[in-house]
Amino acid sequence: MDKSVNLVVGAGFSGAVIARLLADNGEKVLVIDKKNHIAGNSYDYRDENGIMIHKYGSHIFHTSNEKVWTFLKRFTDFNQYMHKVVAIIDGIPTTIPFNFNTLYDVFPKTLAKRLEEKLLEKFEYNKKVPILEFQKQDDEDLKFLAQYVYEKVFLHYTTKQWGVSPKDVDGAVTARVPVYLSKDDRYFQDKYQGIPLQGYTRVVENILSHNNIEVKLNTEFKKDMLNQYKRVFYTGPIDEFFEYKLGTLPYRSVNFKLETYDREYYQQNSVVNYPCNYDFTRIHEYKYYLNDKSDKTVIAKEYSEFFELGKNERYYPIPNPQNSELYAKYLKEAENLSNVYFLGRLGDYKYYDMDKAILRAIELYEEIK
Ligand code: UDP
Repeated sequence: MDKSVNLVVGAGFSGAVIARLLADNGEKVLVIDKKNHIAGNSYDYRDENGIMIHKYGSHIFHTSNEKVWTFLKRFTDFNQYMHKVVAIIDGIPTTIPFNFNTLYDVFPKTLAKRLEEKLLEKFEYNKKVPILEFQKQDDEDLKFLAQYVYEKVFLHYTTKQWGVSPKDVDGAVTARVPVYLSKDDRYFQDKYQGIPLQGYTRVVENILSHNNIEVKLNTEFKKDMLNQYKRVFYTGPIDEFFEYKLGTLPYRSVNFKLETYDREYYQQNSVVNYPCNYDFTRIHEYKYYLNDKSDKTVIAKEYSEFFELGKNERYYPIPNPQNSELYAKYLKEAENLSNVYFLGRLGDYKYYDMDKAILRAIELYEEIK
């Protein structure tokens, strides 16, 4: 048998990037995906109204990594979109992450000013403070503020999203949305950000478009493929690869309920968070991302739920000590295999953003080339 071909399992960003780097280096690659589309959870499509829908929820590209940016720019141009998130706190639309503008939106001016002054005495301007650290305050006013932010921004949202309170999820999760001692209303401060002009599916298609790459959709990975290829790059769930023999790695899933409205816009912003009310965590309004023109609009209400095999999709690994321990055991098993590499959110069981998944694929390639 000709073992000159590499197998990549999964046609999301991780799989596509590693496949492309190998192909650029003259290697042959077969990419398989069990779904009927490429791009994994970044998959998007234009609906009948001409609106680009992010099937698996809003994806906003952002990075400060030059390597990642240089790589992606080969395959797409980006618009100048800078993501902002509005949250409704006790009926008041304001900015998330909680910052100085939020302070003035939700409190009377004199109180906001006092809190602002105390914050500036204690912290450097522009500092980002994770909520669990922000709660460690001695001053009574700042204690009040920390408790307010904890309750109004994090407690209910995190309980909806993760099924447990912010104290029981890994601190790195809530630290993604810190208290931001700034007037910068953007969700990300990365040097590069934007939405690919023709959508994410097209970017992945462009990455995979190479004479040395063949893509087969609706194709499951089977164990006997291991002996048929030069190397295997597996971006699926690592526990599934090992047939769950050491236990199951849990995930959160998300259910998006789409609604179409006969009006130009539904809400004031692409994403509106509901950290105090309702069972859904946030509402996405997709036409904002590429400024799509239509007299209709499509929104998605996002409901979080546990991942159950066969019922829904894996979205978020759940970082905690118990799951890390189980993942580490699978990793040990993986070390016994030669020429099999795990990567991606599911392969590494890590809450990667798109840029981090791309960087991981680039770094893995550099390691093995
Ligand atoms: N979070 C929150 N309230 C908010 C926004 C975020 O409590 O209004 C917490 C929540 O635990 C969430 C985490 O911060 O899971 C990370 O949020 P991010 O927006 O980065 O999540 P993603 O977009 O990846 O779902």
